[in-house]
Amino acid sequence: MAQELKFGDIVERHLIDGDIVLFNRQPSLHKLSIMAHIARVKPHRTFRFNECVCTPYNADFDGDEMNLHLPQTEEAKAEALVLMGTKANLVTPRNGEPLIAAIQDFLTGAYLLTLKDTFFDRAKACQIIASILVGKDEKIKVRLPPPAILKPVTLWTGKQVFSLILKPSDDCPVKANLRTKGKQYCGKGEDLCYNDSYVTIQNSELMSGSMDKGTLGSGSKNNIFYILLRDWGQVEAADAMSRLARLAPVYLSNRGFSIGIGDVTPGQGLLKAKYELLNAGYKKCDEYIEALNTGKLQQQPGCTAEETLEALILKELSVIRDHAGSACLRELDKSNSPLIMALCGSKGSFINISQMIACVGQQAISGSRVPDGFENRSLPHFEKHSKLPAAKGFVANSFYSGLTPTEFFFHTMAGREGLVDTAVKTAETGYMQRRLVKSLEDLCSQYDLTVRSSTGDIIQFIYGGDGLDPAAMEGKDEPLEFKRVLDNIRAVYPCRSEPALSKNELELTSESIMKKNEFLCCQDSFLQTLTETGYEKYNEEIKKFIKGVSEKIKKTRDKYGINDNGTTEPRVLYQLDRITPTQLEKFLETCRDKYMRAQMEPGSAVGALCAQSIGEPGTQMTLKTFHFAGVASMNITLGVPRIKEIINASKAISTPIITAQLDKDDDPDFARLVKGRIEKTLLGEISEYIEEVFLPDDCFILVKLSLERIRLLRLEVNAETVRYSICISKLRVKPGDVAVHGEAVVCVTPRENSKSSMYYVLQSLKEELPKVVVQGIPEVSRAVIHVDEQSGKEKYKLLVEGDNLRAVMATHGVKGTKTSSNNTYEVEKTLGIEAARTTIINEIQYTMVNHGMSIDRRHVMLLSDLMTYKGEVLGITRFGLAKMKESVLMLASFEKTADHLFDAAYFGQKDSVCGVSECIIMGIPMNIGTGLFKLLHKADKESTPPRRPLIFDHNEFHIPIVT
Ligand SMILES: [Mg+2]
Repeated sequence: MAQELKFGDIVERHLIDGDIVLFNRQPSLHKLSIMAHIARVKPHRTFRFNECVCTPYNADFDGDEMNLHLPQTEEAKAEALVLMGTKANLVTPRNGEPLIAAIQDFLTGAYLLTLKDTFFDRAKACQIIASILVGKDEKIKVRLPPPAILKPVTLWTGKQVFSLILKPSDDCPVKANLRTKGKQYCGKGEDLCYNDSYVTIQNSELMSGSMDKGTLGSGSKNNIFYILLRDWGQVEAADAMSRLARLAPVYLSNRGFSIGIGDVTPGQGLLKAKYELLNAGYKKCDEYIEALNTGKLQQQPGCTAEETLEALILKELSVIRDHAGSACLRELDKSNSPLIMALCGSKGSFINISQMIACVGQQAISGSRVPDGFENRSLPHFEKHSKLPAAKGFVANSFYSGLTPTEFFFHTMAGREGLVDTAVKTAETGYMQRRLVKSLEDLCSQYDLTVRSSTGDIIQFIYGGDGLDPAAMEGKDEPLEFKRVLDNIRAVYPCRSEPALSKNELELTSESIMKKNEFLCCQDSFLQTLTETGYEKYNEEIKKFIKGVSEKIKKTRDKYGINDNGTTEPRVLYQLDRITPTQLEKFLETCRDKYMRAQMEPGSAVGALCAQSIGEPGTQMTLKTFHFAGVASMNITLGVPRIKEIINASKAISTPIITAQLDKDDDPDFARLVKGRIEKTLLGEISEYIEEVFLPDDCFILVKLSLERIRLLRLEVNAETVRYSICISKLRVKPGDVAVHGEAVVCVTPRENSKSSMYYVLQSLKEELPKVVVQGIPEVSRAVIHVDEQSGKEKYKLLVEGDNLRAVMATHGVKGTKTSSNNTYEVEKTLGIEAARTTIINEIQYTMVNHGMSIDRRHVMLLSDLMTYKGEVLGITRFGLAKMKESVLMLASFEKTADHLFDAAYFGQKDSVCGVSECIIMGIPMNIGTGLFKLLHKADKESTPPRRPLIFDHNEFHIPIVT
């Protein structure tokens, strides 16, 4: 058959080992949901993959289905491996945190292995280490370090075994360095922590600390694999991870790890602690209820007595479960399996343990205690109006001891809310993600560093203000963590023969190095104008850091009286904060390289990354829809509804709040005064009485002001201002009809008109007068004084519920320059488009941070820039989208397809087919990513082919319309 092959024949074959495949799991919420793997053909009918990649796919094994695609051209294979390979995607572009990392058993195994009391004899150590001799590492020569204990028997520690994951043989050049707190760090003594939870890795050797989720798992930049990735490259990081994935299960299955009923049986001590906690909590609740009934309950600011009670009881009861959790931690044996898992972070939390062993705790429904489903009670098992913990959904039993029927019912209520919420949320976030992607899909960083849409509109002059890639950020939103880099350089290059630099030497040397040519690499004048905030800022940062280091050296030398000419004895003193010229040079070079590597590549689909980075965490947002903002009664909308509100650019948001800083922020009396100026006060609230008075020849309404109350509330109101307020109100009272008598009496004379008689005018005046606003801003529903207690000093600010930012800013006593609102529309109207942009950024970040999610600021900046670049705030909706984009095909592929196509046909619109959606519709390569650049060459033939006449050009179709 081989002889019959002709040029042009296609030879097809089966998938074989080593093929590059694309692997995908739905829902594909971010780019890491499709990655390229190298396939190994195995028997049976299921896909299998390394568990470390479960996180980006969000895969568990409860019946998940996934898809496999096989790219067939060399070009596609190469592109897939370089751009989509698992090794190239260890970190998420959302914030640069590692996503592919150890999970579950790998964490438990590594934790148990690196505990202080894990020792192996030679046979056991070799057996465990032999497990890494697979695949690529099959033939490496593992160098077993000298045993940690020689007598009476030679023993190796688990930490020594673990170190071999990072650096198995002498040929391996990797020298990883890490110093960080573990999950159980006791808070003092660093590597002398009594929980052994301060991880120190020196040149790939684990010196102290047991490994846990923070140092091995996803979502932390103190991850050892992340350090390997950043300092030694993706191959080393991936290799170390696969070595751990071999070794940890082997150790764990040799050692044995399981859960039984014994693990969740509480001991006597724990039971006693639980009952003490319960009794104390119940007693407190009874006291609060008693206080409410006798009217002695101290009300919290802005709350009614009932609300105060609820807040107090809820706080009291949630504390019980937390304390029960810590009691578990105290009382349980450290061999307890659920406890081990919670401690190392592999699965479950202290709350889960506490619920199983001690107490399930308060069941919450939409953020508060169980509401009344029956008449004045939650269930008919309780007395009416009962406010006892048990009657409002407190479950005192544990899953082990079993729930009572009422407790069980409350638990299912809370459980159902969770289910419903998940179901509703998926639909909402799904639509949000689609809208975000549709509006951002064609944004792309260009060769001139701008971010443009497919039509060439500039969205940003430089991506994120500095042109850096969020995936490459080593610090929080910053490309480098100087301290870590310096520590690493010090460890990797000891430079023992070199002398230490003094403060002045250090500063001079660093300056001269930074003036060298290699360091001017990106100081091109064109680039400089664009990257003023970027490279220049980075140079400043590095100088600042060097200055900090030199100051520290000076301080140390002054403290121990060391001179700078190297003659002080003993010489060992020069080792303190030592930094040598070579180390300094290496440090600066590393910083430069890392900075240059962090540049955003032209062609990156920054828009799509932004949409995914904001949409994907939305699906993980938990039930927490409402949250307290310091004041118990002041709720603000959070979670998916809030994100939706922001990106829709809604005009009326559900909880508008203005945060007003005060001119004098340390004076509670001043705060109360300003509060009075802002909060709306009605005439009825400050009057003793409002009566109609009939005299023989006259009738009027008499308003008696309560001067005492005005004084107490610190209002700036007197009879004259009341008269003014009445005149400008909508009552159509003329100034001549209002008379002021003395300090406290205002008389309003009604005036007969053609519509109604004197009597009715009088009656309606009497009805309406109490509602006249005498002081404050009508749009404001209330203002609450917020106390910030920082460093022992109390600071006051006002939280104002309501709109009308302009009026609040202009209020006397409010620091207008420091006052902000969470209503984008209101801010745009008052302060302009730039302020609106900042508000969008801050509000999205605030919401995300509240849900424990971090998104690089560059993503949020891009989104808010897109929403505001047209000069008005446009929502990510079909209306906003129609104003942002021109392409008919794109708009038609989004929503209202028929309408857009009809309009386009009617007006004869053109489509340049340059965006992503259009290119997909037409089946041509799109102009982003590797399609951004084109190879042009001069053709000899005619550039435009002759135009073919259309059928409609024919004369017989041009019939005049009969009128
Ligand atoms: Mg599943």
